[in-house]
Amino acid sequence: MHTGFPDFRRGNVLATCFTGTLSERHGVAVERIPTPRRLLDWLDLNGLAVPSCTDEELDRARELRESIHSAATAAAVQDPLPASALRVLNDCSAQGTAAAALTPDGNRFWRLSPASGVEDALSVIAADAISVIAGERDGKLALCASPTCRAVFLDTSQSRTRKWCDMNTCGNRQKKARLKATRA
Ligand SMILES: [Zn+2]
Repeated sequence: MHTGFPDFRRGNVLATCFTGTLSERHGVAVERIPTPRRLLDWLDLNGLAVPSCTDEELDRARELRESIHSAATAAAVQDPLPASALRVLNDCSAQGTAAAALTPDGNRFWRLSPASGVEDALSVIAADAISVIAGERDGKLALCASPTCRAVFLDTSQSRTRKWCDMNTCGNRQKKARLKATRA
């Protein structure tokens, strides 16, 4: 799908995949959900399809995204969790009415009410972030080693020594930079 907008990064942790919709936070930031339509595309790709999104809902989504980013970053470096981020996370989590449901082949999916749409989807993302930050999931929160990125990710490697938020982007870029330095 070529949309003229930056592609989405894929990941298997919903909350950190969502924070990845803004990348290079410490460099030239790339906004991957610049319009309500792109937020709808992202939600669709992540099993949270909803019919419509307003500008206000996009703002709310970005507010949640940055709150997850700051709370998870604090958790990764064992700082106290910022109160304002917690408030946004907890409010978003409380506001949805999404229901977990099972497919016949035993997979979990989310049933969102058409009326509340984006709010429901954000509640699922907030709840996912809460479980990650609370340490309920297998893995350890860590920050990407790229100085222009510093994205937070859940390291599920056996040795807990993963360095990059994404091997295909940050990892690769670093590898190329190293190669170039070696040749020079
Ligand atoms: Zn990174």
